[in-house]
Amino acid sequence: MTDPAGPGLATRIIHEHSLTDPHGSPHLPVYDTTTFAFRNTAELRDVVAGRRPGSLYTRYGLNPTILALEETLAVLEGAEQAWAFCSGMAAATALFLTHGRDGIVCIGDAYGGTLELLQSQLPLLGIRTHLLRGDELDRLDDLLAGGARLVFLETPSNPTLEVFDIRALAARAHRHDALLAVDNTFASPVNQQPLRLGADLVMHSATKYLGGHSDITGGALMGAQALLAPVWNWRKSLGSMLAPATAALLARSLRTLVIRVRQQNASAQAVAEALRRHPRVRCVLYPGLAEFPGHALARRQMQGYGGMLTLEVAGDGAAATRVADRLRIFILAPSLGGAESLVTQPCTTTHHGLTPEERARRGISDSMLRLSVGLEDPADLIADLTQALG
Ligand code: PLP
Repeated sequence: MTDPAGPGLATRIIHEHSLTDPHGSPHLPVYDTTTFAFRNTAELRDVVAGRRPGSLYTRYGLNPTILALEETLAVLEGAEQAWAFCSGMAAATALFLTHGRDGIVCIGDAYGGTLELLQSQLPLLGIRTHLLRGDELDRLDDLLAGGARLVFLETPSNPTLEVFDIRALAARAHRHDALLAVDNTFASPVNQQPLRLGADLVMHSATKYLGGHSDITGGALMGAQALLAPVWNWRKSLGSMLAPATAALLARSLRTLVIRVRQQNASAQAVAEALRRHPRVRCVLYPGLAEFPGHALARRQMQGYGGMLTLEVAGDGAAATRVADRLRIFILAPSLGGAESLVTQPCTTTHHGLTPEERARRGISDSMLRLSVGLEDPADLIADLTQALG
């Protein structure tokens, strides 16, 4: 993760922003205000016209707290520019409306809300969307030749943890003058930097690892200035700006991102290893396991395997529900990336919006449980799972 040309990611997150507090506060001051005063009309005109940087109006993102947060968000992904949003879905919507109007190809599993937006809502606006399973990649070139200009994917994906080759898919998209956008929420920038692998845009639900404490709803888009500039107007018109107090809270959380994620990587690996031979577990899906189909690729393109794993309980959906209900430390809640470990049954939560046939088509079985491994002692998490599996 350390850039040979400079300091490492943890150092840069903590120190690399240009907002210096006049009182010497080492952390980000909150400018909890909607508008900013100017000394005269000439100064106001310069900022409105973009001739001079400055604070203007918070919904536009022209607020010192938000601008400073965005500098750190850009650092996370090694990006030229980053925009903050009030949620991951707000970031995805602005991305699709800006760069997906000629057609979007979504590869593999994605968060259920993203699939719903692509499948049911964007087509109402005349946007053509195509959802390809991981084993249908041979159709990609035809769809791109047919005019689709945005390829979108999650890797590792939700909830099957399928790993996609970012470098190869970026090259295929670029051959057709299309862009590759990656939802990097599951991996986090500590474990994977898609822009360095050739992707054009990265999206995050900051609600997850970036926030890290289950107390922030936010989103982010990162990429080259030229690609993010047109997104700015959509964000402004959709009004999907993060509140300054939330921006400051997110900036605070980012300071511990690296140590949190590294611990979550180690704990998830320990949980996966402990469960893989359990008689009540049919299989464990985790990129860090040598037998996992995407392991070799994950080793090449990731620096850590993440805190998310999915297990398939031996038995039917009701058996998986019983295990989820018996857990004492894992909280039954549909999110991820926080300090506390969470469990969800995708068919009842994140992927409830899909038909049973669509879930089956995507390999999402009723007996799957998705675990977000938190920051508790890994031995306690393993003991909790062992007692719940009975
Ligand atoms: N992307 C992924 C991978 C997610 O898991 C989620 C939410 O669960 C989202 C996007 C949407 O994020 P938000 O809930 O912040 O809108």
